[in-house]
Amino acid sequence: MCGIVGYVGSKQVTPVLINGLKKLEYRGYDSAGVAVMSDSSDEILVKKSKGALKFLVEKITDEVVKTSKDMSDAQAEKRLGELIEKTGTIIKGNVGIGHTRWATHGEPSDLNSHPHTNVSGTIAVVHNGIIENYAKLKAWLQDQGVVFKSQTDTEVIAHLINYFYEKTGEIFKAVLETLHRLEGSYALGVLCTKYPDRLIAARKESPLIVGLGRGENFIASDVPAVLEYTRDVYYLNQNELAVLYNDHVDLFDSDGNKVVREPSHVEWDMASAEKGGYAHFMLKEIHEQPKALTDTLRPRLIFDGDKAKDIQFDEIDFGEDWKQAGRIVITACGTAYHAGVVAKYAFEKFARIPVAVDVASEFRYRNPILNKNDIFIVISQSGETADTLAALRLAKAAGAKVIAITNCVGSTVSREADEVIYTWAGPEIAVASTKAYTTQLMCLYLLAIKLGKERGSLSAQQYSRLLSEIAAIPEKAQQILDNQSEIQKFASQQFNKSKIFYIGRLFDSASSLESALKLKEVSYMHCEAFAAGELKHGPIALVDPDTLVVAIATEPELYEKLASNIVEVKSRGATTMAITLDKKGAFDNCCDSVITIPDSEPALASMLSIIPAQLFAYYCSILRGNDPDKPRNLAKSVTVE
Ligand code: GLU
Repeated sequence: MCGIVGYVGSKQVTPVLINGLKKLEYRGYDSAGVAVMSDSSDEILVKKSKGALKFLVEKITDEVVKTSKDMSDAQAEKRLGELIEKTGTIIKGNVGIGHTRWATHGEPSDLNSHPHTNVSGTIAVVHNGIIENYAKLKAWLQDQGVVFKSQTDTEVIAHLINYFYEKTGEIFKAVLETLHRLEGSYALGVLCTKYPDRLIAARKESPLIVGLGRGENFIASDVPAVLEYTRDVYYLNQNELAVLYNDHVDLFDSDGNKVVREPSHVEWDMASAEKGGYAHFMLKEIHEQPKALTDTLRPRLIFDGDKAKDIQFDEIDFGEDWKQAGRIVITACGTAYHAGVVAKYAFEKFARIPVAVDVASEFRYRNPILNKNDIFIVISQSGETADTLAALRLAKAAGAKVIAITNCVGSTVSREADEVIYTWAGPEIAVASTKAYTTQLMCLYLLAIKLGKERGSLSAQQYSRLLSEIAAIPEKAQQILDNQSEIQKFASQQFNKSKIFYIGRLFDSASSLESALKLKEVSYMHCEAFAAGELKHGPIALVDPDTLVVAIATEPELYEKLASNIVEVKSRGATTMAITLDKKGAFDNCCDSVITIPDSEPALASMLSIIPAQLFAYYCSILRGNDPDKPRNLAKSVTVE
């Protein structure tokens, strides 16, 4: 998530950090900050600010970027550049770290922005990722007398390093000891006043590169931040550390042993570097799903050794209101609404509780009937969706307990809901949602399974089996992505079809809705989704040889019924494809193409079956000459009715 830049060299560091962070803006962020080793005193200078980098620059320089209302965007950009240069005359030093934050723990605010420091301000840390065991570490540090300044998970890192520094008297050892105690994901940059000539970096799960310059070295979350200065980089491996000086860089493994290897040379240009080598953000985000699913799942699973033994939501109190709830009402828009439709099947299957799912723009005007013992769930990637927000307010006014599922900490939805469950998908840049959707599903499934246990509708054995199954989902998502060439080939044969139908039964009819929406959004092909049994009640009249019918098939008991539906459309000339868990050939005779997804619990397969459909939409989009990242007429966050 978000951005880190660090520098050791002879330049004034503050403008280098801020210009580097500007190159990482595409990753999305809600606040920014810098920490610089002062060149005139034995201290670290820290400045941070909520909002865009521009506000950080204004805070440092005490000047405004836009001096008059009539200033054009180009003039404002030029002045921002000048003020960025000026920051180097105010915060002076040659070693520093900078950060753009995408809040995960604690709202976006000046205080929660990075860098974070130890109590005396002698150690500063920037961090991308999530520390899963931060609550335990924080409680332990508080017992040692540490007073925390922020609500972030990150702050524990600064205090832990301080703790081990006081024990060992050596900063590298202190960082190493700290890393051994962190669970979760991190890319880190660390400064310490006792070592003013260096910068320590480390990574696990979150990306971090080291840029090698002449008489200067860099760290960054991504290549674009350093491309202006160098093309020679180390991509830090899992659990690796780096210590950067102005004239050299040392790499270490997680035990502190030196690692020697050749740097890579970056051939990409700036535009492709931003997308991590992927042609589009949409493709990058589709490929980020295994990690996003892991980040969303892991902090909520309790393990016994390697085995998941329970689900725990720190953010939800599973009290009597959950146990006694008479109904769940889910309200959302677009893709998030489709996550709600899948969730209806999950809650009803696992927790045996009735669920009503509603489109927020309908719900708000219907004078809806809400009961005191309803649990009301709203889902919104951005947390700013206007209709969803209106539905939330309506439900609150009616006295319902409101749970929000969102990807944005500090968003309006997250502030107004009674309880919030975050999807840890990281910023989603492409307009068409992919990783936000699957992580919404992950949260909803975890809730449904947990509720099933709490309400006694799942046996201990069923619960334990579902936990093992859900823990394996991210890896299976990766397997699908590793075999995407089949989908790409199928798209190259079908992208000119004039009509596409997605069909399925139960969970698969819900997944069909999202599959069809993805295709519409980015390919502009006319696509509809039907519950397979509904075909003969009307839609089959549309089927002709220019029709493609894609059947999602993850319900083994209904394979035969679905195969009959496929035969019906095939005999009317349609081309047919199945996306299925079946490995016994149930669809071989009736389908022109069969995409098999890895074996898994059918009721959880919605998190997997959508991935081939996302890829199909993406490839059709580019084959038709569209820009999948910015589909026509669409906006990422729909903040108007
Ligand atoms: N988890 C950290 C926070 O909430 C870091 C977020 C990020 O990756 O920007 O502050």
